[in-house]
Amino acid sequence: MRTIHKYLILFALLAFGTATFAQSGHAEKSRENYQGKKAKYIFLFIGDGMGMAHVNATEGFLADKKNDIGMNRLNMTGLEVHSSMTTYSEDRFITGSAASGTAIATGNKTSTGTISMDSKHKTKFKSIAEKAKENGYKVGILSSVPINHATPAVFYAHEPVRHSYYSIGKQLTTSNFDFFGGGGFKYPEGRENNQENLIELAKENGYKYVSSKRDFRKLDSDDGKIMAVNPRIDGGAMPYAIDMNRQDISLAEFTKKGIEVLDNENGFFMMVEGGKIDWAAHANDAASVVHDVIDFDNAIKHAIDFYNDHPDETLIIVTADHETGGMSVGSRSTKYSSYFSRLKYQKLSLPAFAEILDKKAKSESGLSFETALELTRENFSLGKEDNGLILTTKDFKLLETAFEMEFGDSDKVSHMDKMAMSYVGDHPYAATVVALVNEKSGLSFTSNSHTAMAVPVMVQGVGAELFNTFLDNTDIAKNVEVLLIQR
Ligand SMILES: [Zn+2]
Repeated sequence: MRTIHKYLILFALLAFGTATFAQSGHAEKSRENYQGKKAKYIFLFIGDGMGMAHVNATEGFLADKKNDIGMNRLNMTGLEVHSSMTTYSEDRFITGSAASGTAIATGNKTSTGTISMDSKHKTKFKSIAEKAKENGYKVGILSSVPINHATPAVFYAHEPVRHSYYSIGKQLTTSNFDFFGGGGFKYPEGRENNQENLIELAKENGYKYVSSKRDFRKLDSDDGKIMAVNPRIDGGAMPYAIDMNRQDISLAEFTKKGIEVLDNENGFFMMVEGGKIDWAAHANDAASVVHDVIDFDNAIKHAIDFYNDHPDETLIIVTADHETGGMSVGSRSTKYSSYFSRLKYQKLSLPAFAEILDKKAKSESGLSFETALELTRENFSLGKEDNGLILTTKDFKLLETAFEMEFGDSDKVSHMDKMAMSYVGDHPYAATVVALVNEKSGLSFTSNSHTAMAVPVMVQGVGAELFNTFLDNTDIAKNVEVLLIQR
């Protein structure tokens, strides 16, 4: 028996070893044998937390809205080459944005939380954006979350801890990159508000800083180095796409402007992060996920239009740093049926709804359960019989408990009920409303954190064949490096 076990283990090890080799081996071989053209224009789109379920749910939502069964193709899934990639970090199977971003941007694994350095925090890893800049490309970094957040940071900063926002922001101001767009600085004057303002530092380093829609529209390639920030930001982040109004500039508009200001005869490298996809997925807010994926996909459309004008010189890569939420396109309660279009009744994000409730609760009249239900009906159409978003007795009880937990007497709620609601975080009532909408739409989540699922890689253009195999996240930077024009 024992000998058999030993052989089994040996066999498993050999098989695993071969499989590991086969994975990275194909990508490496393709790079070694690559004789094709180099890419003058490189787009790298990172849907933060965007797993295949986030993409499929959005396609299902768009199809269901038109009463179609199946998929309404997004721009990203229409790209030529499709693959998947692993996301794990050096010290954890379930990665974080900093480590995964570092792998994508520099081709090196590192520890969770580290920004483009080795896990011992001794060596700085150069990013493909920095290498592109050295070779004469113009460089643009765009994000819907703070521009000194982990994913954008890995392209221009080197920092042991991702939460050192001020230090990261300071590195942005001296990066000499050509365009920063979308979100602004988180902690622009440091956590204690006692440091020199990063916006001023950026200006001192030659950046033109704009934060109004009018000034944004006027920007062009003669403006030199630019930092363009959405007029409304919260802690540096842009609003969720579902909460945007006419004052706001979408990620797609930032991308279009980025192309305008970066286009030049030496080419450009542009990274666009759909960062709020991740935030919505952490909150298990499916409708907000879908709207942010649509905005992200509209941004990709601008790159495809550019590609169509420069097909022999352009490379478009769309991927994710990890999956968030353990999102699934199906639910226990709806079984084999899908009602994705029910998400269209949701008018705002979970935090925006929570804010409305909190405001009312703090007002003179206070917030009664009846008013909370009224606001729920108004903003989610939850409780309306004709759209299928019917509240059952069980749902009612759940909402009552959540309301009691958040706005009533939390002591009245039983320990068991509290345990059952451990998923809801700071806003039990709003989170329960959103969970009911998800469930009735046929969508579900298994986590409020990241998962270890492999993520999609969708590519088109110069060198796309390098991506046509199962990849590791470090392969993205390694492939781009092969395709960079050396000057
Ligand atoms: Zn992330």
